[in-house]
Amino acid sequence: MIRNNIVNKFRDLPTPFYYYDLDVLHSTCSKVKEESEKSGFSIHYAVKANANPRILEIIASYGFGADCVSYNEIERAMECGFSPSIIVFAGVGKTDLEIESALKARIACFNCESIAEIEVIDSIAARLKTKATIALRINPYIEAHTHKYITTAIAESKFGISTRELKDVLDRISSLGNIELEGIHFHVGSQITRMSVFRSLCSRVNELQEWFSSQNIDLKTINLGGGLGIDYNNPDKMPEFDEYFTLIRELVRIRPGQRIHFEPGRSIVGQCGSLITKVLYIKKGRNTTFAIVDAGMTDLIRPALYQAHHKIQNLTSNGKTGKYDVVGPICESSDTFAKYIELPETRRGDILAIRSAGAYGETMVSGYNLRKAPGVVFSDEL
Ligand SMILES: *Cc1c(COP(=O)(O)O)cnc(C)c1O
Repeated sequence: MIRNNIVNKFRDLPTPFYYYDLDVLHSTCSKVKEESEKSGFSIHYAVKANANPRILEIIASYGFGADCVSYNEIERAMECGFSPSIIVFAGVGKTDLEIESALKARIACFNCESIAEIEVIDSIAARLKTKATIALRINPYIEAHTHKYITTAIAESKFGISTRELKDVLDRISSLGNIELEGIHFHVGSQITRMSVFRSLCSRVNELQEWFSSQNIDLKTINLGGGLGIDYNNPDKMPEFDEYFTLIRELVRIRPGQRIHFEPGRSIVGQCGSLITKVLYIKKGRNTTFAIVDAGMTDLIRPALYQAHHKIQNLTSNGKTGKYDVVGPICESSDTFAKYIELPETRRGDILAIRSAGAYGETMVSGYNLRKAPGVVFSDEL
C-alpha cells in the first residue's frame, strides 16, 4: 500500500524513481527466516534481483547468504555485510579473473555448469595452492511454465549439466587434485507460480540422490535455487513461502547431515519496490488513450523483455475510469508498460506507481537513448 501521506511527498520529488518500502522488505525477510528455520533450510539471496546497497545490507542483517553471478556482485555483497563463507558463485561464463578473485576471497562454493569450467577452476586453484569447493548445476529437464526467457531447465537451455554427462563429470573430477565436490544445484526458472513445478523438481532430486549414492558419493548440500513467483496482480501480497518450504520438506528425502539451500531473489525483493513516474502527456489513439509517462523501458525493462505484467496505480486521481495504454518516451514500440488497462481519469502531472518492481527493475536499468538512471527513494527517508 502506498499511503496518501507518502503520495503527497512524492509530488515534490523528481521522477522517475524507485520507491522501496523497507517495512515490506523487513516483513518479507522475517517471514523467510521464520519459515526456513522451521525446516533447517539455508537461504542465499540472489543478488541479481536487486543489488542496491541498502537493500543488501538489510537482507544480510537477517543472516542470509548470497548467490552471485559475477565477481562484481560478490564484491558488492561482501561490502554490504555478507560473509564470503556464505557466498556462492553461479553462472555459465565465469571468467578466469572472476574465478581467481573468488578463490582469493574464499567464497563458499562455485556452482559449476560444464567440465570445461571445472577444469579451469582446478588449474587456477592449483596455481593459487588452494582447493575449490564446487557444486554441480544439473539440468533436471523440467518445464517451469513461465515465460520462455526465464525458463532454464529445458533440453535447449544453455544452463546446467545434462544428466547423461554426469558420469563423465564425476570421472573427470576424481582425476583433478584441487576440486572438492560438495553438492548438487538446480535452478529451473523464475516467476514460478505452479507448485507442481517444485513437486517435479523434488522427485528429480530424489532420483539423482539415489544415483549419486550408487556412485558412492555423499552430497553435503542440495541447492534448489530460486524461482518462487510473486503475485503481480496483488502487489501487497506476501509470496507463498510457507507452502513452498513445507512442500520441499515433505517431498525431498533429506539424508542425515545434509543441508538444503535455496536462492530466492524475486520473492524477497519484488513486492517492496515500485517505480514512480509522472504523466507527461495524454494522447488520443485510434482505439485507446495513451498516457505517456516519464519512465521508460530503460528504467524497468520487464514488460518489454518478457511481456511481464505489473499492476499500475494512479496515485493522484480518483476520477471516472477509462481505458489507457501506459507508455514511455523511448523510441521503441515495446516501450509499453501496459495496454488497455483501467485507470481513473488520468491527466498531465498525475503520479503513477508501477508496482512489484523491486526485483529485476533497478538492476536492469540501461542508458539507451542516453537516459539518466532513475532515482532511488527509501520509505524511511520521507
Ligand atoms: C536468477 C537466479 C536465482 C533467483 O531466481 P528468482 O526467480 O529471482 O528467485 C537463483 N539462482 C540462480 C542460479 C539464478 O540464476
